Amino acid sequence: SAQEQPPQICVVGSGPAGFYTAQHLLKHHAQARVDIYEKQLVPFGLVRFGVAPDHPEVKNVTHTFTQTARSDRCAFHGNVVVGRDVTVPELREAYHAVVLSYGAEDHRALGIPGEELPGVFSARAFVGWYNGLPENRELAPDLSCDTAMILGHGNVALDVARILLTPPEQLEKTDITEASLGILRQSRVKTVWIVGRRGPLQVAFTIKELREMVQLPGTRPMLDPADFLGLQDRLKEMPRPRKRLTELLLRTATEKPEREEAARRAEASRAWGLRFLRSPQQVLPSPDGQRVAGIRLAVTRLEGVGETAWAVPTGDTEDLPCGLVLSSVGYKSRPIDPSVPFDPKLGVIPNTEGRVVDVPGLYCSGWVKRGPTGVIATTMTDSFLTSQALLQDLEAGLLPAGPRPGHAAIEALLSSRGVRPISFSDWEKLDATEVSRGQRTGKPREKLLDPQEMLRLLGR
Ligand code: FAD
Repeated sequence: SAQEQPPQICVVGSGPAGFYTAQHLLKHHAQARVDIYEKQLVPFGLVRFGVAPDHPEVKNVTHTFTQTARSDRCAFHGNVVVGRDVTVPELREAYHAVVLSYGAEDHRALGIPGEELPGVFSARAFVGWYNGLPENRELAPDLSCDTAMILGHGNVALDVARILLTPPEQLEKTDITEASLGILRQSRVKTVWIVGRRGPLQVAFTIKELREMVQLPGTRPMLDPADFLGLQDRLKEMPRPRKRLTELLLRTATEKPEREEAARRAEASRAWGLRFLRSPQQVLPSPDGQRVAGIRLAVTRLEGVGETAWAVPTGDTEDLPCGLVLSSVGYKSRPIDPSVPFDPKLGVIPNTEGRVVDVPGLYCSGWVKRGPTGVIATTMTDSFLTSQALLQDLEAGLLPAGPRPGHAAIEALLSSRGVRPISFSDWEKLDATEVSRGQRTGKPREKLLDPQEMLRLLGR
């Protein structure tokens, strides 16, 4: 039975979901073996390619993931694109169970005219650029304009605003790529508007990120007190996190700052502001049609109340000039294989507690299970639940009995297809190279951006 041979389990994706799922499986089953397949050459998903460079403390989770990867019952195989180099049915043949933890790799399009103009980027691509995601390393956004427009009111929008406005000297000691730092040093962006369809009670960012904006050196906030009328009276009825967030917005918008803070704001050379009840309708081209020159926003009003209120257009519009548009309206998962159910509307794999609906032995965790929201801690909790469900099924005899070849079979397939995976010890060599390159300039690391260079460094 499956109990006699150690269960062979495969995880697709090495972000927080993949690693936390593997960690839980290894901890709660003394024999289980876990192979993690990752399409990038390097591990850790959005911890490396999403989390902002000035949030190094968030990246400490990689120490735990490294412990997991070093277990002799766990192996990392980078440079393997599941769905292209090996299929999900092939993985299911080779393993007792497969967990899909491949995240949300697409961005939601705005679906408005002008979206394709030069100067319009998805926040996902912009974040990938400053974090060294190989596919975005050539992005080189033109920051010679005065005003940038960020569409969306979530934490990613604030990350992007903060990176655009932080004095470059302060980013020098982070792991931001040297190339993006060079472009940020030349930036002439002075004003950043962060635009949302709904109102101040519906913003999706959290207080830590808002506080960082309010205190950002060299910048001042531009909040219109009129946007916050009547909110004071509603604070009592709000759940605590929303209440604290709204209090900070209210204070920033309506209270006269103390002398020192007033002086700081008066000296600031850059500014950021939140605009509410505005939905993007069209990106406006420059007269020669060659790039973005502004944005037309539809004025909206809210229907319904509280966090679930939705925005409907009033018919009015407002045009704002800008030379850069960053759309931060959400990430989106892709379907991975025709044999795996996928809900295109929700952008998730349909599942109950991580068990993929109608496919025994197939599981999912993380953003591809829940949708692209939630911090690493949320992803951890949901990954542990998926692992628990898998272990229960194993215990109950619901997974295939008899031995499975595991990685040996996949290794043979990959090699016949000319795919050469990256092991965790390969990654540790690349990691050491990055750290030593960073040391020269006082950075925690200087990321390698070019997969070809990485392969060369590994003697390939
Ligand atoms: P991911 O981290 O995206 O991991 C998925 C992995 O699967 C990736 O490595 C990907 O390369 C791989 N993959 C994809 N397709 C394939 C395939 N076909 N074959 C093989 N591998 C594949 N949370 C915080 O707690 N604090 C923060 O400060 C924070 N900042 C964030 C900033 C940004 C810009 C974003 C987008 C998110 C941030 N988050 C933050 C949220 C956090 O990153 C997520 O909760 C978490 O990464 C989701 O984990 P995941 O494993 O589901 O997805």
